[in-house]
Amino acid sequence: MILLDGKELAKKIRTEIKEKVAKLDPKPGLAVVLVGNNPASEVYVGGKVKACDEVGFVSKKILFDETVEQADLMRAIDDLNQDKEIHGFIVQLPLPDHINEDLIIDGILPHKDADGFSPVNLGNMLMHKNTILPATPKGIIRLLEEYEIGLEGKHAVVVGRSNIVGKPIALLLQQKNATVTMCHSKTKDLKKVTKEADILICAAGKAHMITKDMVKRGAVVVDVGMNKLEDGMLVGDVDFEHVSKIASHITPVPGGVGPMTIAMLIENTIECYELAKGFKH
Ligand code: NAP
Repeated sequence: MILLDGKELAKKIRTEIKEKVAKLDPKPGLAVVLVGNNPASEVYVGGKVKACDEVGFVSKKILFDETVEQADLMRAIDDLNQDKEIHGFIVQLPLPDHINEDLIIDGILPHKDADGFSPVNLGNMLMHKNTILPATPKGIIRLLEEYEIGLEGKHAVVVGRSNIVGKPIALLLQQKNATVTMCHSKTKDLKKVTKEADILICAAGKAHMITKDMVKRGAVVVDVGMNKLEDGMLVGDVDFEHVSKIASHITPVPGGVGPMTIAMLIENTIECYELAKGFKH
């Protein structure tokens, strides 16, 4: 079994970006908007800001109380759209129930959309145009490429169909000529489908739901899930201990997809910077 070491690859990518940033003036800027005090979101935002600082970006953290009104949040988005120091920004999801998430994401200018979640960037991705890609799916593809895992003609099964992970990774895999099956909570006999996967991507957010009997021997298994157990331990959607015994390649949690997501967010910010400077068309 080969471990798909996202932590190591992310470190390599961040080092390359740091060298590039050292030569840039002004420095690229990334802002992160955080609403409320969801502990998981605070950890993710902390990791993103730390990574920005390490590569030499200007970073900005904009915090709002849980009770913030839609209009105030929209104003903050407008300000970031105009801010010359900030080349890309993200709004950490999920947002409180009273906030219309779609309106917030729609408000982000596509060339400042470092998460690649805006309808314009997602639409461009659908049409296979050069665009800012969603960080997690982009990171998964980069990790598979690093380990020279061929995708053409392979059967890829994606468990989960969210706009930020499941749907975009299925699309990117299809664009790499894999034959893709998407599963979700209404899929009948999930095990029958996952067992046929050459490449299995798990993004359901259910601790240890993918067990050894659901995986074909020799499959490549990518675990996107980040689930906190009652004892505080972070685990993926895959029962790593047992599945790793039959998989040919597998990502650990933590240390697999998570660090790749942050590295791709940093890379996307450089793309936003280049778009702003007119280096990129
Ligand atoms: P989400 O929006 O909650 O979507 C979960 C998807 O999984 C839904 O499509 C749901 O189906 C499906 N699902 C849930 N239970 C299932 C089951 N028992 N069988 C089959 N499908 C099932 O979650 P998300 O935002 O995509 O995130 C998924 C996981 O990845 C979470 O643990 C999240 O924390 C993690 N994540 C990690 C990173 C990273 O950087 N490592 C980044 C983003 C997300 P329905 O559509 O039918 O409801």
